[in-house]
Amino acid sequence: MPPDPAAAPAAPLRLCIDKDALAANWRALDRASGTGKAGAAVKANAYSLGVPQVVPVLRDAGCADWFVAHWQEVPGVMAHVPAGEISVLHGPVTMDEVAFARECGARPVLNTLEQAARWIEGGGGTCDLMIDTGMNRLGVSLKDLGDPLIARLDVDCAMSHMASADEDAPKNAQQLGRFREARASVKARRFSLANSAAIALGPDYHFDLTRPGLSLYGGIPRREMSAFIRQVAFPQAAVLQVRRVMPGETVGYNATFQATREMRVAIVSVGYADGYLRAWSDKGRFSFEGAALPAIGRVSMDMTAVDVSDVPTLREGDWLGIEYDPVWASRTSGLSQYEIFTVLGSRFSRR
Ligand SMILES: *Cc1c(COP(=O)(O)O)cnc(C)c1O
Repeated sequence: MPPDPAAAPAAPLRLCIDKDALAANWRALDRASGTGKAGAAVKANAYSLGVPQVVPVLRDAGCADWFVAHWQEVPGVMAHVPAGEISVLHGPVTMDEVAFARECGARPVLNTLEQAARWIEGGGGTCDLMIDTGMNRLGVSLKDLGDPLIARLDVDCAMSHMASADEDAPKNAQQLGRFREARASVKARRFSLANSAAIALGPDYHFDLTRPGLSLYGGIPRREMSAFIRQVAFPQAAVLQVRRVMPGETVGYNATFQATREMRVAIVSVGYADGYLRAWSDKGRFSFEGAALPAIGRVSMDMTAVDVSDVPTLREGDWLGIEYDPVWASRTSGLSQYEIFTVLGSRFSRR
């Protein structure tokens, strides 16, 4: 019989979540939302930080509105909060999804007239409504809001999504104008426009509910948000081997790093299969007991080499901190801060 996976030894990779920072970020975003209340986008396993780690902390901080993308994501969130607090952004595209929504009690965000008809056909009930104000992603167009199907819906939250809130673009005011127009014609208990970045665009954008995701997890989509958003995700990797490298020797694939002096090199258990990108070859930073340690050579699939010459006490089995400040990680990799979180792989033990 194969051994129970739960009986396997602890993972050599940890994703430590600073719960105080996470709760503080939600409270800061809730405060910054003025008269609106902050919810939380927890799709994609809470941007890969882990629904079981994130949702209870935000719930205890006072969050009571949750946004996921897929119906498959509902049960994981429902393990921690009432289903009636969960909105499913992709809406009901099949009758199976309508039936599932009615059975579990999570709210569909209706994105099209077809979805509205499907929801009503399946028995209906309270729903949310996405209105497209110019992003041309999901949502009912302004010109379709007058359709009698929309008037038949029992809408809790009518929302729209901002395309360029992380920039000072004319599109922001344009979307706000269109959302105000929609608000005058649609009946709903609550209205919601802002993602993380749009919270910083000011009170006009706050309405009744805001939907931050990125900034809860430490992302800084607008510079002014660095004043109140803290880093939440702190990855760590175990040292698998410490070796001596002599001057002239090379380290790693394609021998991109060549030692110019005698060095101690630690091979740590994190690689691009874990989301530790090849972009950080010769650029990444690690830490041990306060000492900053550079990555050297190519990042491999499961391993990265680190110059630990400055920490002679370091041994196999010790843990290194992995530099993962989202702004730094985004700048040095060319990925968006969103991807910096979502690339974090499943081999991390999340705690
Ligand atoms: C993902 C998402 C959010 C959260 O956006 P952030 O930029 O991460 O704050 C809010 N609303 C909708 C509709 C989304 O899809």
